[in-house]
Amino acid sequence: MWFLVNKGKLLTAKKYTILVIPEGSHRVRRFALKTNVLRGIGASCAVLFLVVCGFLTDYALTSFDQHEFNRLRSETLAQKNQIRDLSASLDSVQQELLVLAQNDAKVRVLANLTKPKIDGLTGVGGPLASGSEAKYPEIQQKIDRIREAIDLRRKSQEEVQGILNDQRSLLAAKPSGLPTRGWTTSSFGMRRSPFTGKRSMHDGLDIAARTGTPVQATADGIVSRVVTDPGYGKLVVIEHGYGYRTYYGHNSKIFVKVGQRVKRGETISAVGNTGRSTGSHVHYEVRLNGVPLNPKKFT
Ligand SMILES: [Zn+2]
Repeated sequence: MWFLVNKGKLLTAKKYTILVIPEGSHRVRRFALKTNVLRGIGASCAVLFLVVCGFLTDYALTSFDQHEFNRLRSETLAQKNQIRDLSASLDSVQQELLVLAQNDAKVRVLANLTKPKIDGLTGVGGPLASGSEAKYPEIQQKIDRIREAIDLRRKSQEEVQGILNDQRSLLAAKPSGLPTRGWTTSSFGMRRSPFTGKRSMHDGLDIAARTGTPVQATADGIVSRVVTDPGYGKLVVIEHGYGYRTYYGHNSKIFVKVGQRVKRGETISAVGNTGRSTGSHVHYEVRLNGVPLNPKKFT
């Protein structure tokens, strides 16, 4: 047990006495200490304390840093692996796009289209060798090339689709077959007119059939004229697009109106003997850009 005793005031005294009383003994030991010495000891203790604190803090920080470093290192490694996997998946996507590009080229050949523009995918390398590092710009580059290839495919497909639609519409618009069943009584071309006896041009085909027999449109189109003409009699004209127009004359009845859409095979009228006609028949004309063509060529 020890006490610190000062002679005089507590903090301003010049000298302090330390009393040491061992347990179970009556002997008291005294140590006189000057204030300066005491202050020196106090200062040393404080310095020592600060130094120890410094060391401890430094140690704690170093140990934290080490832990953080290890964590970041394993995180970086994991991310590198992820980037490598990502790069490999992009390679496989590129390969799939390459197959699509090849298929697209075949379809274009079938559709009689020119070859598509060479895209960035041609000459794509294989997947990365394991262990090699994929860099971010490389990944970005791959994504750009894939995007470019997708754009090209889309444009190409739109083009092919457009062509196919056109072909399909042309096919639907081009007159095909005859408007009714019957006997061809007068062909297309020069003939002696049954009315005047002079040689003149016959712009269509005459098909004889009983009055009332259905007359059908020979292609898809829009009814552009429904008139009663002195020559054609009750006439239906259908506009098919692509320059095609068909005429159906001498009808007894007409079932369609101007502006009506009709399909190939749809009944538009009934055979009759109206206008300049010598018997019940259909006068059928096919015109391309206004020029009469031989309907036989469209059967
Ligand atoms: Zn005729």
